[in-house]
Amino acid sequence: MAETKGTIFRIRRFSIHDGPGIRTSVFLKGCPLRCSWCHSPEGIDAQISVWHTPGLCISCKRCLTACHNEALKMSSGSVLIDRAKCTLTGGCTEVCPAGAMQFTGRTITAQEVFREVRKDIAFYGTSGGGLTLTGGEPLFQPEFSLEILELCRKAGIHTAIETSLFADLDVAEKISSAAELIIADLKIFDPQEHETYTGQSNEKITGNFLFLAETGKALTVRIPLIPGITDTAENINAISAFAGSAGRNIPVELIEYNPLAANNYRRLGIPFQPDRVFNKDNL
Ligand code: SF4
Ligand code: SF4
Repeated sequence: MAETKGTIFRIRRFSIHDGPGIRTSVFLKGCPLRCSWCHSPEGIDAQISVWHTPGLCISCKRCLTACHNEALKMSSGSVLIDRAKCTLTGGCTEVCPAGAMQFTGRTITAQEVFREVRKDIAFYGTSGGGLTLTGGEPLFQPEFSLEILELCRKAGIHTAIETSLFADLDVAEKISSAAELIIADLKIFDPQEHETYTGQSNEKITGNFLFLAETGKALTVRIPLIPGITDTAENINAISAFAGSAGRNIPVELIEYNPLAANNYRRLGIPFQPDRVFNKDNL
């Protein structure tokens, strides 16, 4: 039987911020939203690419020699990538002695992810922790997510997913049923504002949330505090009231924004514009 493969961009062991206890967080690549403030831009694109970390680079130029596509050039001590020429051969990543040239993700099987997660099983038991699938968006790779969740549950590992809930109801229902905890990142309550800053309305999100709340599934709401966009009293109160309208006690957590996100945009060579808005021309 063919193994289920997916793409991830990070595995973080001993995480204490992605659900209860000590957890292993697996970051899946690909997301249907385009939040202007996204702190992991390398997780948005489902495709793997290469990126460059200027702070690690020792300007040895080995990557320039290794690239047979002339996709790289040195400018002011930093390597610039011409992505139109790059064919992802990875020659640059192999020769870089400083780890400054890397792929933004990797292809991996669900079984391989499970084997990584299982390494810390002793810590999950004592701390009440387990696996958290996050991203990117775990619902964007449903078969891959489902298999990881099922493998972990069979091994007695607690399972959580951190998700925007932007997905068709059948996908949200299927994946959620395999996870013991859903951490729902609700960003902006007003549908029009949501579309302005993420590129999509939140109607699917709120619909999926209410559906899951009715099933009795363990839910936590997280609101990322983006200055001037999501952190207004009006927005926080509206999301809290919405969570409360489900008729159950659903915790609401406020998450401070990570200002280091700008570094990741620099590494990808794309502009960081947390207050960017979408309109018909740039969607
Ligand atoms: S991945 Fe290959 S083609 Fe792309 S920049 Fe590196 S060496 Fe060049
Ligand atoms: S090989 Fe690595 S350290 Fe050397 S110039 Fe390229 S990115 Fe910088």
